[in-house]
Amino acid sequence: MNLVVVSNRVARGKANEPMTGGLAAALLPVVENSGAVWVGSSGRVRDGAQREPIAQIEQLGKGAVTLLDLPAAHYAGYYEGFANSALWPALHSRSDLISVSHDDYRSYREVNGFVARALLRFHKPDTLFWIQDYHFLSLGAELRALGIKSPIGFFLHTPWPARSVIDSVPNHRDLVTAMLAYDLIGFQTEDDRENFIACLRADLGLQVRDGIVKSRHGRTRLDVFPIGIDAEKFAAAAAKAASHPDVSRLRRSLHGEKLAIGVDRLDYSKGLVNRINAFDRMWTMHPTLLRAVSLLQIATPSRESIEAYGNLQSEMARLVSDVNGRHGEVDWTPIRYLNKGYGQGVLAGLYRSAQVGVVTPLHDGMNLVAKEYVAAQSAVDPGVLVLSKFAGAANELDTALLVNPHDIDGMARTIAMALSMPLNERRMRHEVMMTKLRGRSIQQWFADFVEALQDGDAAEVEIEPLPAAPAGLLSGRMLSPGQRYH
Ligand code: UDP
Repeated sequence: MNLVVVSNRVARGKANEPMTGGLAAALLPVVENSGAVWVGSSGRVRDGAQREPIAQIEQLGKGAVTLLDLPAAHYAGYYEGFANSALWPALHSRSDLISVSHDDYRSYREVNGFVARALLRFHKPDTLFWIQDYHFLSLGAELRALGIKSPIGFFLHTPWPARSVIDSVPNHRDLVTAMLAYDLIGFQTEDDRENFIACLRADLGLQVRDGIVKSRHGRTRLDVFPIGIDAEKFAAAAAKAASHPDVSRLRRSLHGEKLAIGVDRLDYSKGLVNRINAFDRMWTMHPTLLRAVSLLQIATPSRESIEAYGNLQSEMARLVSDVNGRHGEVDWTPIRYLNKGYGQGVLAGLYRSAQVGVVTPLHDGMNLVAKEYVAAQSAVDPGVLVLSKFAGAANELDTALLVNPHDIDGMARTIAMALSMPLNERRMRHEVMMTKLRGRSIQQWFADFVEALQDGDAAEVEIEPLPAAPAGLLSGRMLSPGQRYH
């Protein structure tokens, strides 16, 4: 088997560098161990790159990483435009934040087509392509248009939202049709898969039987593969990190006070404003917790050139300063707020130093930080995870304290409860979660997906004509006439 993995961002395997997100963190070890080729953006753009894709290839464990310079003329429309100002907000049920033009969609399709052409050089008779995430919904269709018959799988790291939300993405119907070029589409949760099936039924008039949908592209299997972490590796890193200067300085600074920790990209899906409001409410409702607990919030800057992210950054800076100004003392700061990234080794030690992990996204595909926090705890004296019920991780980590991130009072009460939870209950909850994390490792996730993709390859492929769309569905916002791709 010759596996080619594709994602927008790749990890370079440099020790102590922060990860750019859960996708890169998850794929790094599986590429290193499997010998796959991992193709992604170099982060650089190049004029005229449409004609001759230029790739820089580096060794990554047993595998290799290949970095592509993307076409300058289309990069902004693809990345900041369609991917992150239409798809990302919609996939996280924030259609109010969609801000996109038809040119952005054209750029998105152009970049998908460009990457497909760049992938041709990796194509061998036994190649499997595994495409990752919302940047490349139409990459499979572009590969098919170039004559590639090899199995092509796709995994969506984000949620797939309710039908009415995805309807608000311009050209969503074209995109969902293009996704059916994949042989296998993997989702994080059963809810995401069901939402996608509802969209196929309503928007394309397609039925799904036994997890298979037939379209003019052939058969596509829809399945659920919740992404995991290497729990043992994280636990070992957390134990080792106690001597790291940042970790020991943090511990020395606490003087017996308890610590809650949040680690997130500075993204509106992460529920950061509500979380800070919940701590504010907690200190107001329980003044005995002033000086008794502080919050370390790492909020790594992300997608700063997009307006919604810039606005969030300003709002958070104002809010944290307001809360610290009201509750702080000359020798005590309630919230330590850091706009920087840390390597995972240090993060593991920081997680282990905190009695409570607060992971309260408004909506999240999985949320690996939740899993990492649990894995980093000492089994003898574990901390408590406070987890949003709208994170994919809540399906597995159901002995965490689950909260509704829109309910500020409820979160405030739950964080206070976590701080006073007795040791035997903490141990019991932690043990159940660790058993689940060990049973669904990142290696298992990888093996399950690749096996399903290979199995699908053996199945007979029947081509059926695409049924006519139900009346009225073509009236949505589409590309202008003549701009159709397939
Ligand atoms: N991360 C990191 N350094 C940081 C902050 C986060 O390496 O300073 C990593 C973290 O360990 C996790 C990933 O980035 O593996 C974040 O993944 P998650 O699924 O929680 O969220 P995403 O950013 O993908 O939305």
